[in-house]
Amino acid sequence: MLLNKYVDAKSGETLSLYSPHDESLVTDNIQVADQTDVEAAVVAARIAFKGEWSRFTAAQRTKVMMKFADLVDEHASEIAECEAKAMGQPINIATMVVGIVSAVFRYYAGWTDKLNGEQYPEQDGMYKIVQYDPIGVCAGIGAWNASPAFFAFKVAPAVAVGCTFIYKGSEKSPLGVLQFGELAKEAGFPPGVINIITGDGRAGSMLASHMDINKISFTGSVFAGKKVQEQAAKSNLKRVVLELGGKSPSLIFPDADMENALVHHSQNFLFNTGQACIAASRTFVHEDIAEKFIEQLKARFQQFTHTIGSPLDPKTFLGPLVDGKQFERVMQFLEIGKSEAELVTGGGRHGKSGWYIEPTIFLNPKDDARIYREEIFGPVITIRTFKTEEEAIELANDTSYGLSSCIFTSSASRALRIARQLDAGNVNINTWQTLSPNTPFGGYKQSGLGRECGKQGLMHYVEAKTITINMSV
Ligand code: NAD
Repeated sequence: MLLNKYVDAKSGETLSLYSPHDESLVTDNIQVADQTDVEAAVVAARIAFKGEWSRFTAAQRTKVMMKFADLVDEHASEIAECEAKAMGQPINIATMVVGIVSAVFRYYAGWTDKLNGEQYPEQDGMYKIVQYDPIGVCAGIGAWNASPAFFAFKVAPAVAVGCTFIYKGSEKSPLGVLQFGELAKEAGFPPGVINIITGDGRAGSMLASHMDINKISFTGSVFAGKKVQEQAAKSNLKRVVLELGGKSPSLIFPDADMENALVHHSQNFLFNTGQACIAASRTFVHEDIAEKFIEQLKARFQQFTHTIGSPLDPKTFLGPLVDGKQFERVMQFLEIGKSEAELVTGGGRHGKSGWYIEPTIFLNPKDDARIYREEIFGPVITIRTFKTEEEAIELANDTSYGLSSCIFTSSASRALRIARQLDAGNVNINTWQTLSPNTPFGGYKQSGLGRECGKQGLMHYVEAKTITINMSV
């Protein structure tokens, strides 16, 4: 989508998408952007940034953003269907993800006239004003597990402050995001403000290393995120935000509400078939309640096997993994896990066709077990036991990641004491990680750099400018 029109890529190259449910062809016509296409998108975004878009008032930006949100809601079922077909996300979950898009656009639509800057009264003969300028032409690259939401987390704050955007979704789930191009045009965004390109890591890399892009926000693996940061540094030192992987801990204490903990570690852990960066896949349960907890969690995981089905069926809760490659990767982890830990339930393929995996629990992984250390990104949870609060905190923080974390206890003081000590961008007490438009989301350590959502998410799309006035002249 370039200058509000769908155009074929100049490369002449296309990608095919196959249904993860039954491996049937979804489309063989996903355009692959090359350097010429990226160049055209950057030029369009630069012209729009300096042109008509720069003359839009805050109220006008709010109006088009609100209209866009309404249009997304109107077309939610079509967009959700695109995700269900391309990456196997169950239709109810995909619809919920589309709801995040309109909520985030509405939230940031309210910010267009609220970034008021600061002023410092004359002290030393100088009067100072700090103003926030839009950073310029921005780019975004997304993962596949909630594509529409990643588009919103990046594009909405950028356009709220007057930036323009080039977005590349994942090559595994590009269809839902492509619908946004038509809706952005209908909402009244001028040509060049929101540009969408398709392609794989090569196109992402062209964006990361481009000399005329001022900022890039990336959602994906640590491996590719590091490459993006490297390319940004080697090119024009564009600003970088990274939203990367996780291997989040959850701590369950004997005074926790058992039913609540079980719901969160079954239904909510298995949400999106465990393909969630925020999934607390390292569970630590106090030894006094471990036996009961594990037995009941096993029963719930087995019950969830009955919710496996076609992504387009509204009764389905557990869909397939995104594609054959991800399926092979998770299957490999399951095999490795059998020699690294005790298999409690699951551990294999579900059915004979489609990329379905049984919900799986491993108990007592070795300290250096790959299933315990590496992000699996599937319906696979590991459980260890602990004796003391200190031990639980140490185990929780013993990871290179730091995205999310959960604490289950009825003691508020214990929860807050532990929250302070966890190295994670998000701590959830007696609940699971949820995303809200008004609070910052992101990771400590190798889970990322910077934050999305909330005011912090907005501030990544502006540069601070200090204006100093000599009052004696
Ligand atoms: P990935 O890193 O393979 O791909 C993500 C995106 O980066 C894709 O659009 C891909 O085309 C692009 N890409 C690949 N190589 C690139 C390169 N060298 N330069 C620029 N772009 C490149 O990740 P994935 O498999 O799509 O997604 C799964 C990962 O994403 C998991 O690690 C998961 O935890 C993480 N994730 C993080 C968040 C978060 O908000 N923290 C959210 C969702 C997913």
